[in-house]
Amino acid sequence: MSSIRLFLVAGILATLTLFNFVAALRGYQTSMEEADLLFDNQLLDFARLVGRLDLTDTHEELRLGNNLAFQVWDQDALIAHSYHAPVEPISAFSNGFDFSNFDGYRWRTYTRHETLSGHWVIVAERTDLRYVLAENVVLESILPILLSIPLVGLLIWLIVSHGLRPLAVLSAELKNKHVNDLSPVQAQNTRRELAQVVQSINGFMARLNQSVEREKRFSADAAHELRTPISALKVQLHNLSGEIDTGSDTWQQLQHGVERMQHLVEQLLTLYRMNPDKFAENCQQVDLYQVCEDVIARQYSLVESRQQHLALEGDHCRITGDVFALDTLVSNLLSNASKYTPAEGNILVRVHRQGGRIMLDVEDDGPGIPEAERERIFERFYHSEKSPQEGDPPGCGLGLTIVSHVAHLHQADVSVGVSSFGKGSRFTVSFPEAPI
Ligand code: ADP
Repeated sequence: MSSIRLFLVAGILATLTLFNFVAALRGYQTSMEEADLLFDNQLLDFARLVGRLDLTDTHEELRLGNNLAFQVWDQDALIAHSYHAPVEPISAFSNGFDFSNFDGYRWRTYTRHETLSGHWVIVAERTDLRYVLAENVVLESILPILLSIPLVGLLIWLIVSHGLRPLAVLSAELKNKHVNDLSPVQAQNTRRELAQVVQSINGFMARLNQSVEREKRFSADAAHELRTPISALKVQLHNLSGEIDTGSDTWQQLQHGVERMQHLVEQLLTLYRMNPDKFAENCQQVDLYQVCEDVIARQYSLVESRQQHLALEGDHCRITGDVFALDTLVSNLLSNASKYTPAEGNILVRVHRQGGRIMLDVEDDGPGIPEAERERIFERFYHSEKSPQEGDPPGCGLGLTIVSHVAHLHQADVSVGVSSFGKGSRFTVSFPEAPI
């Protein structure tokens, strides 16, 4: 996947380097032209100086540096020359600058006719050495540019990273959003360009939210509308029970079907009633142990009718939550424990404090839940082939979905394991403790 940061850094650095290089090249050319002019002027001065030399001195004494040479000609006779100069004319006898090759090098020459003495003075300077200094000066000005490229690259990297930080913040916020959270993204102090993206995301979220809400409302309304005809059906069934044989299979199946429908509708309504807004409204300090006592008191007769042994252990621990939602959570766990545990089985409900959390355990010594199934049991409408106890409303696969939904609203975690009875299942819900 290509990176915006890498693209910007590479692009800016390449542009800067190219511009610097072109500027340095241009600088090099101008410096060389100026150096040329300067050296030519020096050569001219040197020619004037040689013209004024006392030629009675022996030319052998005139040992100049490696880079300079001269000749003084009287007609066709060489009357003086420097150590390096050859004995034939370095250049043609005509005033001005030129180039010439001798002594294995290329030389810049200047020829001058001395009007007083009638001599021709030819001076020469080695071209390779004359530019060494100029080149050094130019190189010294280019070198810092070359060396600064990594530093400039690092600076650009930091600036671009800083500029892209709001993008990282936005991406982190979107990543941390819960799957059910369709609230607008809060991108504060964001850049103008990103504000448009945030606006588009929020617009999309709002449309998605509306559509999800519509779906939810439809399901809740449908469940609500079904309540009345189902109640009417139940009344009709009750009236009929006095007139026909209630022992027949058809009658049993009809009654079973109506009960299943009623249970499903009630569970659906419970699920849609518990939304985060309602939860926030009803949030208060709740004694979880007390909630368990209330649920047990309500369900005790059913448990007793199955001769199951039910115990409640633990302490009065307080959590922050919605009593109605917590009551539903405990109620669903307990009714499942009773539903799937055979007659005379054991059920244990425990509330205790552990590692700064409040733990609710609901255990039984029923058939348990195979490990492969443990993830799936929380999915909507998932229910296994396990047959519940007689007299219990048939499963519709929403009980544990509601448990995990309520747990999520309370920032609690639900886990399933093997019960302390050695067989059967244990559901553990770990809640954050209410602040004192
Ligand atoms: P249902 O309405 O079918 O009980 P739930 O969502 O409450 O739906 O449970 C899903 C499935 O999890 C059940 O069909 C059952 O197989 C399994 N289950 C839940 N609680 C228990 C338990 N205490 N013991 C064994 N199996 C359980």
